[in-house]
Amino acid sequence: MAAVACVALSLPLAPPSPAATVAAVRASVHETTVVIGTSVEGRPIRAVHRWTDGATRSTVVVGSIHGDERAGMRVVRRLRTAVLPAGVDLWLVRTMNPDGTAADRRTNTHGVDLNRNFPTYWERAGAGTETWSGPTAASEPETRAAMSFLRTVAPRTTLVFHQPLFGVDSYRAKSMTLVRRLARLLDLPVRSFDCSGGCHGTLTDWHNRHLPGRAVTIELGPRVPAAAVARYADALLRLATP
Ligand SMILES: [Zn+2]
Repeated sequence: MAAVACVALSLPLAPPSPAATVAAVRASVHETTVVIGTSVEGRPIRAVHRWTDGATRSTVVVGSIHGDERAGMRVVRRLRTAVLPAGVDLWLVRTMNPDGTAADRRTNTHGVDLNRNFPTYWERAGAGTETWSGPTAASEPETRAAMSFLRTVAPRTTLVFHQPLFGVDSYRAKSMTLVRRLARLLDLPVRSFDCSGGCHGTLTDWHNRHLPGRAVTIELGPRVPAAAVARYADALLRLATP
């Protein structure tokens, strides 16, 4: 964990209750929050780490990287308080783009589409639009924070939420088995989202080329009712349970 700054944001566990005692028998849950980087405007990018004793495979869930795609953050919020089965190790990042989230805007404050800024298949493209890839690969602090965090955690699985295309992305998939399992668990179709002719500079492509684990893009629909948020959170817990 050398590259991740541990900060004094450890959250207290809930006081014991009969229900909590049952949960404690099932799995002893640990939780801490780390700041993994800072946005252009100085907002902290936070990751909440929740894990149980004996967990060996970590799962990262990114609620949002495009600040105007917000449904995944609701799934993350639900996972923040969910009872964890034994063996689960979750890293929950509500947003990799806190400035975009605060402004309800796709890009970061420099107007860069962070999901076109990663240094894999990067191209100079989209200047003046909402899909600008940035002046250079990994030019943005949010991109570099995500890379440093993911390199340090080296998760078995990373799931990144987007909207509104509705499907589990099979484009350049590292593991079709995982894509199909996710689609089944989430009740979403398997679809190939090729960014209209070839994605460049995405988090998942960078992750899948440079890290041992698998990253998958999950596109939720345009509107996500509360019941669906709960179902998606449960599905991800099942996926993360060994
Ligand atoms: Zn998106």
